Amino acid sequence: MRNPILFILILFACLLPAAPAAASDADYHYRGHVAITPESGFLKASWVIEVRDRADNHITFFIRDTLGNVSVQGDDVATTSLGKVEGMEDFTAIKVGLKPSGGAARQIEISYDGELISKPLPHNINTISSEIIELNVDSFWFPIDKRFSKVLSADVTIDVPGTWHGLSTGEVQTEEGKIRVINTDPRLDIAFTLAKAPRLTQASGFEIFDLRATDAGIEALGKTAAACMTELNARFGQTQPLPVAKLVVTSRNAGGYARENYIVLTDIGDTPPDRLTQFICHEFGHYWARGAAFKTVENWLNEAFAEYTGFVGVRTILGEEAFKGQLERFANQIEGKDLPPIWTEGATERSPYLVNYRKAPLVLAEFEKQIGRDSFLRIVQRFFAQPVKTTPQLLTTVSEVAGPEASARFKEMLAK
Ligand SMILES: [Zn+2]
Repeated sequence: MRNPILFILILFACLLPAAPAAASDADYHYRGHVAITPESGFLKASWVIEVRDRADNHITFFIRDTLGNVSVQGDDVATTSLGKVEGMEDFTAIKVGLKPSGGAARQIEISYDGELISKPLPHNINTISSEIIELNVDSFWFPIDKRFSKVLSADVTIDVPGTWHGLSTGEVQTEEGKIRVINTDPRLDIAFTLAKAPRLTQASGFEIFDLRATDAGIEALGKTAAACMTELNARFGQTQPLPVAKLVVTSRNAGGYARENYIVLTDIGDTPPDRLTQFICHEFGHYWARGAAFKTVENWLNEAFAEYTGFVGVRTILGEEAFKGQLERFANQIEGKDLPPIWTEGATERSPYLVNYRKAPLVLAEFEKQIGRDSFLRIVQRFFAQPVKTTPQLLTTVSEVAGPEASARFKEMLAK
């Protein structure tokens, strides 16, 4: 094996909105038209942004400051100004004052153009080239509310010469020179990949879009995705089964990320089965393991429970030995390190990666061993059914299923 760590699990802002919800729960609906010239990287966008919150009269959006000719219009718009915000130097802040709502949703029309990516962004994740167009919120290609917590549904038509295939969190309709991306579920991002000649795998429950020049690892990825889908749905999908997963395999060796069911992977050619299973099941698991405030200490709930679904995947798909190996690998990564507690009453700060992704899932596995897999599964199922998740609420669930003593013990384990 040339390089066992080809598969780097950095998730650029693993974005987790509060809960699966209907389109009507979106804060905004974006209707957009974007023309892209792949050769030059030039982009020309116009949006009608519907503001659903009737009380929100002052909104600031950011776009990348390589974009110019910004125009803001609309009958509901009272004031507009463009400027910079401290700490966000690479972006143009579009401040919009809205007239009071008369009851209906108000609309803001924003248009701009320019060469979005005038110099490469980290890991080339956001890219416009004659073969591949990959965009997400990290490039600020669409106007994003400065609070970075508002969810939006979207219907975007992309004009791009030639024949392209597309993949996004939602639905992608393609016809010659026109691609329509429709995201009905509210999300924090409009993320998509277009490619001239991807290799496609379609199976029940998932689609794979391979952008590499090789097939290495693709069969294993398909099998892993199918197995994660089956095993996780059997345990956690009773009321909310996983949506169709969209997997993009890139030739990058760093810079994977996930937007729930839309998962962009680094080159998986050399990835060992346990890591691949852990990773895919982790990302699928976020469909339920989300809804804890992700900028706070509570983010441990999102990540540790997603890692736990990874453990369940490894254990059921690859067997007990592989599961043990996974626990050891996690334990080795934190051995001898002085790490803060996972959670204590009154804590607010988001914990470091090794706490949320390594220490905390190991504690979940340890607690599962103490109370038994069946009891722990019942706790996780109940916990996943909560749209908004907090540690005190988890402790209550533990108490209900396994008793107050077990809950007190678990609380101590989190505070170590
Ligand atoms: Zn995650």
